Amino acid sequence: MTDGVTYLVWHDLAGTSRTRGVPTANLSSMTATGLGWACAGQALTAFGSIVDNPWGPMDEVRQVPDMEAQFTLPPSRGHGAFRAVICDTSTSDGALWDCCGRGFLRKALDALKAETGLTLMASFEHEFLLTGEGYVPSPGFTLAAAMQKSEFLDDLNTALSHAGVRPATLEPEYGDGQYEVSCKPDIGLRAADTCLIARETIREVARRHGLTASFTPKPAADAVGNGAHVHMSLVDEDGRNHTWDPSGPMELSEVAQKFAHGILASVDGLVAITAPSPVSYYRLAPHSWSCGYRAIGLQNREAALRVTPGIGDDAAKAKGHNLEFRPCDGTASPYLVLGALIMAGLAGIRSGGGKLTEITCDPLDMTDAEREAAGVTRLPTSLEAALQAFQDDPVTATMFSDDMRDVYLGIKRWEIEAAAAMEGDQVFHAYRTAY
Ligand code: GLU
Ligand code: MG
Repeated sequence: MTDGVTYLVWHDLAGTSRTRGVPTANLSSMTATGLGWACAGQALTAFGSIVDNPWGPMDEVRQVPDMEAQFTLPPSRGHGAFRAVICDTSTSDGALWDCCGRGFLRKALDALKAETGLTLMASFEHEFLLTGEGYVPSPGFTLAAAMQKSEFLDDLNTALSHAGVRPATLEPEYGDGQYEVSCKPDIGLRAADTCLIARETIREVARRHGLTASFTPKPAADAVGNGAHVHMSLVDEDGRNHTWDPSGPMELSEVAQKFAHGILASVDGLVAITAPSPVSYYRLAPHSWSCGYRAIGLQNREAALRVTPGIGDDAAKAKGHNLEFRPCDGTASPYLVLGALIMAGLAGIRSGGGKLTEITCDPLDMTDAEREAAGVTRLPTSLEAALQAFQDDPVTATMFSDDMRDVYLGIKRWEIEAAAAMEGDQVFHAYRTAY
């Protein structure tokens, strides 16, 4: 008997988890120098092709397991345990590679800490579509839909907990076959690791039930969108939340107002990272709660930033007050998402922020003049427009290293071209399968 294989996992620029496996008995010998991986692998799209990149056949980086980021899925339904560990990508001299998504988030967190003494506490909501042979979904939000998949949801709860994720809710969503898992927040890097673990666990538990889970933002032209809303609060070393101040607009503290201002100022460029697929823009439409506008509002589900209050007494409010970034979906890498949101928020803190106008209605119901006065603008309506905004915005244009930016743009342009060449519903099918 051996203790099986452990998979070294990292998330690439296309928002997919890549891996190499080693006998678990050898894992501890990997912690210093890791396993080699061709740099060009970072130029993979989610569809198997490799876009132009600056690396040749001999260029290699090291996938170094972070032993604190190990996770195991428990045995179930005739499948054995599955062991994995998340990696940082280093150069051969041990420095963080400047094209590593996890490294990008590490650097953003370091900058936030150095300049404010604070870190980010965050969690992702996971909306996904279940499909399977012979599966005819019960209507959205119904107890029947929960009962229909209760064994899956029970197993998922067990597997997530076993893997170190703390599920908060597991339930049927609005769409046919759409379900949602939300998780308790984690601090710093762990929040992105938890997102990766949760997505892969959902995918695997579904597979063990003969189902397919897809996180694509728009499964079909007329389907309900799948979001990956991000909840964020700024916390200190003791985990105390610094986001709430009852005297601020929407009860936001001064630092949270500046952070929110920075995100809104760069939101058009940010969506190139957080809603990074051609199909993401079928989801990002007004009147569908997936949000179409640059706007902020208390509990406003049509705003890019929804201020989500803690419910209860002052202690509960102080603990729970958070910002929810809604134009994000499951084709995005959580490392790039959190790193980019931090960098934009930090730019707002550095610049001193500015006025936040609270929007108390669906921005679509405002007149043009009202929107203009409130600084409410339509988010990019295509990936192409988002990529342009990403390059035009001084904050997003400079947040990646030059190589990472060029390769990221290369992958996304490849996707735009590939999508343009597809006919009818093909593009929805392609993303449903890949993500
Ligand atoms: N499914 C919606 C989206 O695409 C979100 C619905 C909700 O508020 O949970 O973002
Ligand atoms: Mg939802």
